[in-house]
Amino acid sequence: MESDSLPTVSDAFGRPLRSLRLSVTDRCNLRCNYCMPEENYVWLPRENLLSFEEMATLTGYFTDLGVDKVRLTGGEPLLRRDLPRLIRLLLQNRQITEIALTTNGILLADQIQSLYEAGLHRVTVSLDTLRPERFRQLTRRDEHARVLEGIESVGRTGFTGLKLDTVALRGFNDDELVALIEFGRHYHAEVRFIEYMDVGGANEWSPHKVLSRAAMLETLGRHYGAIDPIPERGSAPAQRFRLPDGATFGIIPSTTTPFCSTCDRSRVTADGMWYRCLYATAGTDLRKPLRDGLSADDMRAFIRAGWEARRDRGAEERKALERVGPREAGLIGIDRLREDPHLEMHARGG
Ligand code: SAM
Ligand code: SF4
Ligand code: SF4
Repeated sequence: MESDSLPTVSDAFGRPLRSLRLSVTDRCNLRCNYCMPEENYVWLPRENLLSFEEMATLTGYFTDLGVDKVRLTGGEPLLRRDLPRLIRLLLQNRQITEIALTTNGILLADQIQSLYEAGLHRVTVSLDTLRPERFRQLTRRDEHARVLEGIESVGRTGFTGLKLDTVALRGFNDDELVALIEFGRHYHAEVRFIEYMDVGGANEWSPHKVLSRAAMLETLGRHYGAIDPIPERGSAPAQRFRLPDGATFGIIPSTTTPFCSTCDRSRVTADGMWYRCLYATAGTDLRKPLRDGLSADDMRAFIRAGWEARRDRGAEERKALERVGPREAGLIGIDRLREDPHLEMHARGG
C-alpha cells in the first residue's frame, strides 16, 4: 500500500508522523564521551525490554498513523541478539517502505550478511575519526579496527546508500573533515557531519566544542572550492552539499540551525517509552497498555492523541537558551539521570 494513502495524523504545529526510531537496547560496547561519559550507568530492567513481537506490534500502530520509515538504533543495536529476526518481523508490515540501522560498526562485519538477507534496506555507521588513538580517547575502547572492518564489510553485500555519521567536535576531529569525506568516497559512502548537541544530560557539551555548519563549510570550501547546496525534501535532518568534483556530503546542523519545524520523528525506547522529541524529558509508557491488552483501536487512539498534542521543538528551545547566556553544563543533572535512565541519549537512540 502506498504510504500517501494512509490515514495520517498531525501534531499541534501541523507536523505529520512519518518516521520512527526504535531503540532495541540501551546497552553499548563504546563509551563515547559526548554520549556516555560516566563510569557507571543505571540500565533499563531486562524484564521491561520489549520482545521483538511487542516491538513489531507497536510499530504497526505507528504505521497505521502514517509512519513509513523505521530506524533501528540503541545503545548499540547489534548487541541485541538476533536482530535480523526483528527485521523480518517488521517487513511483514507492508506499510514500512524503509528499515535502516544506525550502528557503531563494531559487530557489523559479523552480522552484515544476515542483516542483508533479512531485508534491511540501509546502514549508517558512526565514525568520528580515522585515527585509532583518537578513537580510543573518544570512546574509551580499543575497537577502531573492527569499526573499519565493519564499514568495509558493507560493500561486500548488496547494500547501497551507506552513510557515515561523524559528530564534528571542535579541537578534536575538525582537522579530519576532508580525510573523512575521502574515506567515504573510497567506500561509496556519504559522510554526514553532525553538530555536537547538548542533549541527553551527561554529554560533556560546551559551546566551545561545537563545530558549526558555517565553520565546516568554510574548511571544506578552502580545500575543495565552491560547494553547492542540494535542494531536498523538507523533513530530512541532513542538508546535503555537492563538491565541485560531484561527490556529496551532508551536515546535520541541529545546534546552530535546528529543523524542528519539519520534524516528523518519534522515538520508542527498548522498554516501550515513547518520546516525541530527542530533548523531551517526559515520555509516554506504551509498554503497560500493550501488556495490559489494550485493544488495537484503543492503542492507535492513544498514540494519535499523543501526537496531536505534540508541541515539542527541543533543539529550537535549547538554542534559545543560548541567548539568555552561554551554558557550560549539560541540561539535565546527573542525579536526575540516575533516577530516570530514559533521559540518556543512549536509551532513546540519538
Ligand atoms: N550506538 C549507535 C551509534 O553510535 O551509531 C547508535 C546510537 S547513537 C546514540 C546514535 C547517534 O547519536 C550516533 O551517530 C552518535 O554519534 C550520535 N550522538 C550521540 N550523542 C550525541 C551528541 N551529544 N551530539 C550529537 N550527536 C550525538
Ligand atoms: Fe557511542 Fe552510540 Fe554507544 Fe552512544 S550509543 S556511546 S554514540 S556508540
Ligand atoms: Fe525533532 Fe525534537 Fe530534534 Fe526538534 S529537537 S528536530 S522536535 S526531535
